[in-house]
Amino acid sequence: MTMTKTVSRNILITISLLTIGTAFIAEPRFTQANITNHSTENNQPVWAVHFDFPVGKPDAKGYYNAQGFGKNNHLGDDWNGNGGGNTDLGDTIYAVANGYLVSAEDLGGGWGNVIIIRHYLDDFTMVNSLYAHCNKLLVKKKNQLIRRGDPIGTIGTANGIYPAHLHFEMRHDIDLPIGGGYSRDTSGYLDPTQFINAHR
Ligand SMILES: [Zn+2]
Repeated sequence: MTMTKTVSRNILITISLLTIGTAFIAEPRFTQANITNHSTENNQPVWAVHFDFPVGKPDAKGYYNAQGFGKNNHLGDDWNGNGGGNTDLGDTIYAVANGYLVSAEDLGGGWGNVIIIRHYLDDFTMVNSLYAHCNKLLVKKKNQLIRRGDPIGTIGTANGIYPAHLHFEMRHDIDLPIGGGYSRDTSGYLDPTQFINAHR
């Protein structure tokens, strides 16, 4: 009898704790399915808490943003070396935060080599960072863990189409198609500089 009472009480306590827990933890916006095949720590993704700039690690020292988000309907930032022209050709591009590689491939056309990394934020949302026109790709294994500041590629010209620069986007809609880099419709996109500055 005593045994049964103890068990019942423990079950009740457990249920109460679960209820309290559920009430205070926000609805996760990603599921276990999202992190399947990702290396995890304690069954959680490696979180992206702090963000840095993708060039001139960590503060974009030596670079300027030639065309910011929203200018001419631009959907990202264009990072250029202060020297102008192709002086930044081959410079290292760094992951802006901890995350997992979605893809690193030549999309041709105006995109060239494009790297996409998925970041899991500790508010249970996800964002993608996208690095375009790369000269070299230094990462390739899908779902590989990438740490903030890791070298992931080098600045390029999209196969000679542009003077060397990094076209850099951030997206909170992780399922957006590649798109065209410019649009009046910015839904699903983040202002990268604003986002990074808010997450240093
Ligand atoms: Zn651009």
